[in-house]
Parts: sequence; C-alpha cells; structure tokens
Amino acid sequence: MEYIKLNNGMSIPQLGFGTWKLTGDTARDSVTAAVKSGYRMIDTAQGYGNEAEVWAGIAASGIAREELAISTKVSTGAMRGGADAVRASIRGSLAALGNAYIDILLIHWPVKGKLEETWKAMEEFVADGSVRALGLCNCNPHHIDEILAVAEVKPVFNQIELHPYLAQGEVSAASRERGLRIESWGPLGQGRNGVRDDPAIAAIAASRGRSVAQVILRWHIQRGNIVIPGSSKPEHIAENFDIFGFALSEEEMRAIDALDRNERINPKNDPETFPW
Ligand code: NAD
Repeated sequence: MEYIKLNNGMSIPQLGFGTWKLTGDTARDSVTAAVKSGYRMIDTAQGYGNEAEVWAGIAASGIAREELAISTKVSTGAMRGGADAVRASIRGSLAALGNAYIDILLIHWPVKGKLEETWKAMEEFVADGSVRALGLCNCNPHHIDEILAVAEVKPVFNQIELHPYLAQGEVSAASRERGLRIESWGPLGQGRNGVRDDPAIAAIAASRGRSVAQVILRWHIQRGNIVIPGSSKPEHIAENFDIFGFALSEEEMRAIDALDRNERINPKNDPETFPW
C-alpha cells in the first residue's frame, strides 16, 4: 500500500473502499471483506444511508479503529438546512460510526450559498477533536476559493468524478495548486460508461495478465490520486486491492491519458448545476 501525505500532516492510504449503493447486510459484509482484503480506508456518506452498516462491517472485521481512516460526507439536505442542521447531521454520523471520531469529513456537493456556513460548522468538530480533517467533493476551483477565503481548517482533498474518460486535468491542477490532493470517485466508470470495455485498456490488461479494473486503478495511483473503488463482490474487492505488484510504463500511462473525452458518467453530475 502506498500512503499519501495530506496538507495537515495526516497520512492516508492511496487506495480505499467506496460504499455508494451498498446498503444493509451487503454494506456490512462488503466492508468486512474489504478490511479483510487489506483496505484501511473506507468512504461513506450521510446520503448513502449506510454509515451504521459500514461501522458494523468494520466492527465485524476485528480491526482496531486507529488502523483505519473513515471518510463521510455532510449531505446536501443538511447543508440546505443551515448550520444547526449540519451540526446535527455530523453528530448523527459520529454516533453511527462508532461514537468515536471521523477521520475526514467532506462536503458532499457545493450547495450554492451554503459553503461558508457549512464549513464553519464543520470546523467546530475539528476544534473539539471529533473530526481529524476536512475535505471537499465535486468542487470546481471557484468553490475551493470560496472555502479557502473563510477556512481556518484547510480542506485536505477534493473528491471528484475521475476516470479515463474524464481525466479532470483543470480541476486537478487547480486543486493541487491550492494544496489539495485529488481523490477519484467513479474510478471504474461505475460500470456505466463503457470504460471497462475500452479496447485500448483491454489490450494493456491482456498484455500484462491483469484485469481491466486493475489497470485502470493502477493508472489512478500512478497519476498520484487517491482512489476508492466500490464493489459488493469479494473477488472484485480483493482484485481491486491487488494493484501494488505491477506498474504501467510511461507509454501505457500516455495511452490511457489519451482516452480522455471530458465525459461525465451522468451529465447531470455537473457541480455548477447539481443538485438539480
Ligand atoms: P466505481 O467506478 O468504483 O464502480 C463501481 C462498480 O464497478 C460497481 O458496480 C462494481 O460492481 C463494479 N466493479 C468494481 N470492481 C470491479 C472489478 N474488479 N471488475 C468488474 N467490476 C467491478 O464507482 P463508485 O462506486 O460510484 O465510486 C467509488 C466510490 O466513490 C463510491 O463507492 C463512493 O464511496 C464514492 N462516490 C462519491 C461521490 C461523490 O459525489 N462524492 C459520487 C459517487 C461515488
């Protein structure tokens, strides 16, 4: 496992496990399988309705809490409700996630007009020690600047949709210039945009005796991004973790870079217009 050092001094694994769409027993069992496969970072959200199940999966794995990094996200609904609703939602997340602490608390979407108020409420939980770091999701450079203008606690990363068909060069560069790392969501195109059937990637995978998913995840890692693939299948969970025993050549990296179409999996997921 590679680790990434964040701007607040924290180190987190470069590869984590995503839990969107995993609910109930499937969420619990998938998280247990992920921890048993070696993942040490789990990403959830208030909006996924699975924080308690994620925690149950962690508890069932037997791992010590301090060996894990957990990220969760303040929902757009809480943001729209104002500072008190944000605080209540964070208390709810803390309770669901083992009543201890949250490693990285994220804004889920940059709800217009609500960034400053949300961020200041989130900072209170860093001050009292129940949250270790704050971060962003789906933020364009002007959203990051809006946060930085009021932030006493700086965001550590920007979690954005990123895969070979949406390489996000501009947002990545702007985030890095401002000291934020990039975390890729939908790293495998969510199985919806055809990237897992891309012939160029399939050719690289075949020549290396690796799966297409492993080659794509390796591309994310070598671009220096944090990446959080999700799955409910134990074999895929393990396969996605097994990406540190090979490296893509510069030529292979460039071949995957060349696939960028600036194409979102769902055009509605544009941070300028979401939540629609
Ligand atoms: P993903 O690209 O990780 O794709 C997940 C899909 O790919 C699942 O259907 C899974 O069954 C399939 N899959 C996984 N590994 C596979 C393999 N080895 N072979 C074949 N199929 C495989 O998409 P995602 O889950 O949406 O994104 C990852 C995580 O990012 C989420 O789980 C969530 O934690 C986070 N996320 C955040 C936001 C946000 O707005 N901040 C939005 C979406 C997702």
